[in-house]
Amino acid sequence: MTILPVIPTSPDEPDAVATRRRPAMPPRHLADLDLAGRRAAVAELGEPAFRAKQLSTHYFGRLVRDPAEMTDLPAATRDRLAEKLLPTLLTAQKELACDDGATRKTLWRLHDGAMVESVLMGYPDRVTACVSSQAGCGMACPFCATGQAGLTRNLSVAEIVDQVVYLAGVTASGAVTGSPPRLSRIVFMGMGEPLANYPRVIEAVRRLTTPAPEGLGLSQRHITVSTVGLVPAMRRLIAEELSVTLALSLHAPDDDLRDELVPVNQRWKVAEVLDAAFDYAAQTGRRISIEYALIRDVNDQPWRADLLGRLLHGKLAHVNLIPLNPTPGSKWDASPKPVEREFVRRLREAGISTTVRDTRGREIDGACGQLAASELTVVDAGGAAADAEVAR
Ligand code: SAH
Repeated sequence: MTILPVIPTSPDEPDAVATRRRPAMPPRHLADLDLAGRRAAVAELGEPAFRAKQLSTHYFGRLVRDPAEMTDLPAATRDRLAEKLLPTLLTAQKELACDDGATRKTLWRLHDGAMVESVLMGYPDRVTACVSSQAGCGMACPFCATGQAGLTRNLSVAEIVDQVVYLAGVTASGAVTGSPPRLSRIVFMGMGEPLANYPRVIEAVRRLTTPAPEGLGLSQRHITVSTVGLVPAMRRLIAEELSVTLALSLHAPDDDLRDELVPVNQRWKVAEVLDAAFDYAAQTGRRISIEYALIRDVNDQPWRADLLGRLLHGKLAHVNLIPLNPTPGSKWDASPKPVEREFVRRLREAGISTTVRDTRGREIDGACGQLAASELTVVDAGGAAADAEVAR
């Protein structure tokens, strides 16, 4: 069966498809609101407005997500506020670590049983969180495990932010071995197509970058939004005048192959998507990141490296090659190392800055395109008892 991508009809109606399916969005949470909205919500509950700041300081300033730990609030007040403003959005279903604790994956169950994942990656100088923007994904890229499972629903602003606040707390506890105890970077490279959940992702970015206690106070420049190339939404992003980094999952420099690898290319072609990406770079002065998963004998030929080099020549762009990660049932493999080296050599010769991404988290299915891989395996295999719930 061919899974066709779910393409939003317009960037102003990114939820058009999801709405028809009546997704069960979660209850409202503090992180869905700005500070003024929180004050109004607190007042509606008959509490003084300063409680909004108090809750916000706990959540964004001290990374406390559990109301029971907010002990400076009188118990009755705390219960009332917690029920209305701090509902549990994410329940950890599984936590896995590898790379000696430097990579950690959390599998979350959402209020309606949908599952998403977040990955924390520690480096000597920084800690990066890879977060999900949707449960599943409607873009149907055939080499990506998430794409194979289809879209369940968009995440709410708070469901996105709460992943980050949790991971910031894990980082602050010193659990990421060999890294500074501060989460500094976010990549929207977990499950989902961020630009297909446009308004919520943008609001989440604003919340993550507004100083505490209103938000988390991260730097916009340290946030990367990755897209398959939804051109109208990319154009809308240019108009936001944010300074986040844009990553474009290109994977092929020619329409024939990209139509297959990134099915949304059937709607917005390579030339058009690169134009939008270059305009983003020109507007922000920030280099775009071209993501390219190297797949043996599929997109790794020298002529494709040369063509990519010509397309990017003189542009503010960096190429990030990703050795293909295995996904269940996939017919594709990573390119052999000599082929990869030749691809890099040709791009660099064309003057294009190029790196090969490390494949963090492979053994816990936390690497690119593997999120949801274990769940698919469980479904395929009928599931062990402990994992059966995960698969539902
Ligand atoms: N939907 C967005 C965000 C997901 S980012 C996007 O596609 O950009 C995840 C990145 O990992 C994307 O560049 C995606 O194409 C890449 N990827 C997916 N499956 C992969 C796999 N099996 N091996 C390597 N990279 C993969």
